[in-house]
Amino acid sequence: MSKLFEGLDALGIKVDDKVDIYEENKVSPEEQSEIVDNKEEIDEEEFLFDKEIECAVCFKKFTSRVVKTGRLKIIDSDSDLRPIYREFDMGKYDVWSCPHCGYTSLSRFFAGITSKQRSFIKEQSMESHGVENENATYSIDDAIMRYKLALYYSILKKGKLSEKAYTCLKLAWMFRSKRENLEKSLEELLDVENAKDINFEEVVKVKMEIGELRDREKEAIQNAVVGFDEAYDKENFPICGMDEATLGYLIAELYRKIGEYEKSMRWVNSLLKKHIGNKRLRERITVLKNRIRKEINHS
Ligand SMILES: [Zn+2]
Repeated sequence: MSKLFEGLDALGIKVDDKVDIYEENKVSPEEQSEIVDNKEEIDEEEFLFDKEIECAVCFKKFTSRVVKTGRLKIIDSDSDLRPIYREFDMGKYDVWSCPHCGYTSLSRFFAGITSKQRSFIKEQSMESHGVENENATYSIDDAIMRYKLALYYSILKKGKLSEKAYTCLKLAWMFRSKRENLEKSLEELLDVENAKDINFEEVVKVKMEIGELRDREKEAIQNAVVGFDEAYDKENFPICGMDEATLGYLIAELYRKIGEYEKSMRWVNSLLKKHIGNKRLRERITVLKNRIRKEINHS
């Protein structure tokens, strides 16, 4: 758990090593109310604008960089439903952070806050000023910080299981984005005519970072699936924009990703008993079932 919040201390926030993201949800649930693969240069700034936002906690106004609607093209999606954009990873801009009081959340959850949650935040919030929104574009590292902060605030405000789970999932996607960028850098480092020209020191450094990002991603996914699994039974659909079948599939896939094959298969089998109108989703479930079998045989 501990490493998920690494770096937040720079913002004056100390998160307990043993913090349990879902602790509040367990106690009283009723209280809860760049992928820039193409070689052409992309001017990320052109796709963004400053949106004026009123903070849901301190009611002061601030601006945040957001992506212009419909400007980015989704070219594919990962098995855990992460959209892949042609231009750059739009997920970097999906967290809003108030520079006045520090309140930070995924945009979809930002305004939906109860007065009780507002006071939870005010009571517990440390002297934090959020992250700077000034940069013209956000780096993956900026985005990772923002997601960590959003996760921290989702705990402070005793957010719903699904909010915490979704924030963990999107944090996992950010770690993946960063790892993918590093994997490309690694390829470039190794792509030299003469082996003696390889900068081995740099190669080792990048490889280690890739390994660490893999661990971080897995940790975030582990936390995401715990919350989604419980939210599936306790919350009303749609959950984070997903219907029952989609969330069921996502849970199954997340369990597979962390090697919990039994649980994953149980979800897949129960999904296969249901009528699922969405053809693409039916295909995904079948692919997942075959993948689990293959991985079990190889493990
Ligand atoms: Zn604020």
